Amino acid sequence: MVTLDSSQCKCGRCGKILDISWEIDSVDSREKNMGSESYYSASTNVICPECGNEINCSIQFVEYPDGVLEVPPKVIEISDDRSELETPRVSFGDY
Ligand SMILES: [Zn+2]
Repeated sequence: MVTLDSSQCKCGRCGKILDISWEIDSVDSREKNMGSESYYSASTNVICPECGNEINCSIQFVEYPDGVLEVPPKVIEISDDRSELETPRVSFGDY
């Protein structure tokens, strides 16, 4: 079970710090010699309560082998590139 902590984003329009939560999608998985390699994406969609700026962001990360973060989260797409987004910490449950 993979979870992402919430992270913070600084609004690119007014500078307000927002708490954002993430929705994880399993994208792909393949068998390798040490188990399965799993690709995930996660996305968030927040609207700044101060100024109404809408921030959409997608990240990707890879788990391999089970319970180990092979590739840490990186931003794939952000709708407002003036906003500064903290990539979330990944936690793996018990296997
Ligand atoms: Zn704002």
